[in-house]
Amino acid sequence: MSGSTARLQAIAAVTNYINASDPVDFEETHSGELFGSNVFSRKVMKARLPKEIFKSLIQTIEHGEKLDASLADVVASAMKDWAIEKGATHYTHVFYPLTGSTAEKHDSFLAPDGEGGAVNEFSGQQLIQGEPDASSFPSGGIRQTFEARGYTAWDVTSPAYLLENPNGTTLCIPTAFVSWTGEALDKKTPVLRSMQALGKQAQRILELFGHSEIGMVSSTAGPEQEYFLVDSNFYYARPDLINAGRTLFGAAPPKGQEFDDHYFGAIPGRVLAFMHDAERELFKLGVPIKTRHNEVAPGQYEIAPVFETSNVATDHQQLVMHTLKSTATKYGMTCITHEKPFAGVNGSGKHVNFSLGNSTQGNLLDPGDTPHANAQFMVFCAAVIRAVSTHAKLLRAVVASAGNDHRLGANEAPPAIISIFLGDQLTDVFEQIKGGGARSSKKSGTLTVGVDVLPPLPKDAGDRNRTSPFAFTGNRFEFRAVASNQSISGPLVAMNTIVAESLDYVATELEKVTKGDAKKLNAAIQKILKSIITEHGSVIFNGDGYSEEWHAEAAERGLPNLKTTVDALPALTSKETLAIFSKYKVLSKRELHSRLEIYLEQYCMTVGVEANLTVEMAKTNIYPAAVRYQGELASSAASLKAIDVEFDRTTLDAVTAAIKGLLTNIATLEKTMDHEAKTMLAEAKHACNKTLPAMLEVRKYADELEGLVADDLWPLPTYQEILFIK
Ligand code: ADP
Ligand code: MG
Repeated sequence: MSGSTARLQAIAAVTNYINASDPVDFEETHSGELFGSNVFSRKVMKARLPKEIFKSLIQTIEHGEKLDASLADVVASAMKDWAIEKGATHYTHVFYPLTGSTAEKHDSFLAPDGEGGAVNEFSGQQLIQGEPDASSFPSGGIRQTFEARGYTAWDVTSPAYLLENPNGTTLCIPTAFVSWTGEALDKKTPVLRSMQALGKQAQRILELFGHSEIGMVSSTAGPEQEYFLVDSNFYYARPDLINAGRTLFGAAPPKGQEFDDHYFGAIPGRVLAFMHDAERELFKLGVPIKTRHNEVAPGQYEIAPVFETSNVATDHQQLVMHTLKSTATKYGMTCITHEKPFAGVNGSGKHVNFSLGNSTQGNLLDPGDTPHANAQFMVFCAAVIRAVSTHAKLLRAVVASAGNDHRLGANEAPPAIISIFLGDQLTDVFEQIKGGGARSSKKSGTLTVGVDVLPPLPKDAGDRNRTSPFAFTGNRFEFRAVASNQSISGPLVAMNTIVAESLDYVATELEKVTKGDAKKLNAAIQKILKSIITEHGSVIFNGDGYSEEWHAEAAERGLPNLKTTVDALPALTSKETLAIFSKYKVLSKRELHSRLEIYLEQYCMTVGVEANLTVEMAKTNIYPAAVRYQGELASSAASLKAIDVEFDRTTLDAVTAAIKGLLTNIATLEKTMDHEAKTMLAEAKHACNKTLPAMLEVRKYADELEGLVADDLWPLPTYQEILFIK
């Protein structure tokens, strides 16, 4: 489809738009009834399982106790009956390989009964363990293809659910994916391991504070997903969007996001219909979607759920990305989760809100009104600060990807320097502690709006800071550097593990000093808070993270600034990372090395595909259009000359020069791509330092041509069209 056909079809799609989904009568089906209707939830389990078995499962889910495998047959049978009653024909173990995507292999419930008929079967063994042929999933050297065995293991803490399709329903069981040696091949296993480590260390702190009843502490996560929607007519006319998820060419549109008129603007009808539909599906799956709005860039939106425990939030986040993509197509649109689909307008991130808490003490990062007097909050908060400061490089590594490199460091997303925004109130309290003890908390006060009919608004004690990669936002930290297209597992595993280590350190110090004497606790806390803030205060920065001055100051403070994925990823196997990950049994040395290898390889493959596409599109889309136009101009010149009319050659010369530049740089890029390094890291460095810049050179001439060539000859939908027609 040529650019202009795509354009006409997209305009037709928008103007002829009619709602594609069956409208839901919310008077008949209240949204509350819809919520979780496709989940094998606690309520369903309670109704369908024998009391003892239900209780035992809840012990595992709520208190982290070992799963009693002998229950499996009963649970499997109840799960099967429930699923079949709701129309399921198949079941699948859903797992999360290191590609960052979701994997599933479906099996039918049906088994031949030996008499020419069939019965529905689903045993405890089938619930607990599966064995997909896993040889094609990346293992980073942990397995050879001839020892392909990989097992999926039921994760009872993440509820099973039904995925509907117009032609059938599938029972989905979230699972961990491990090799036959027990090594993790997935994103879920380390989340579970790290949550366990964090819970244990947090418990020690709570014990020191004298709580008698302490529920299992879990980390919690609330991920805000940003994404773009574009009309599918445009999408399918752009090989780069289809194959790389981002545009590799495209001149800046005359109008970008400078008017700030898209952010929180009224949501277009087709988009809103899509959102309703996607949210309805997510409600059925028990994903607690809460917020939706337009984002800063034209065509950019956000969806956010209410937070859940890290493990469930991670699984649900995968469902959110999946549902957005599958629903968009129903509305003739394509959902793009790439971090930087369009140059020159904002990219997408995924802010991961992080905290920890339990049913008995609540949110452990809630400061209350007077944090200086809330010693327990101060201890947890200081532990996070210490963790982030100590392992800043690791935090940078777990958000590193080819896509996110376009975002971190550009003036729209937090810089690659990991710092913490604490806000005035907390910074002030910590400053007081450093100076010998905190006696007051700045009052949050009242914000007067200056209009009598409006009520006075309570002012948050901390302002917001969009420029910080890691911001305290009232009762949680918001990790803002996370990439829109990535699984949130990596960031959460890192957070859980480094905070566990920090809490371990604090608990050990406090236990040493107090030796069980609660009277000594307060003084010991003051001392350790002071030492933490003195040693790690340099990671706190409340100013403008986009500014030049901050980059200079951060360097002075000695904060790492790992600009690219290639700089950042090696921290995954640094001495410090290996030490804590093995100490808390989150990932072994071999597992970490395999991950580094896989992520480097993914980086190389991503850049490799983009480079191939750049060459192909430059040669087969852009060059032909440019030459056609050059020919048109040349023949006009010749015809005019024949009748003695002067021809202005400015455009023809410019086109000719740009074509030359294009061809020269295609050749250079091709030469650059002909390369094979000895190690994956060296290959990744080559991709980063040589291939990507060579691609940009090709793009420069292509984009120049876009501004010269006659619009009806230009083969690719333009930024202007893709971003603004919806
Ligand atoms: P904003 O855009 O203002 O930052 P949103 O409302 O879009 O905020 O998202 C905030 C996210 O933070 C939500 O997912 C919310 O549930 C989550 N959140 C709130 N409290 C916690 C907590 N204790 N732990 C983890 N996430 C939390
Ligand atoms: Mg936010």
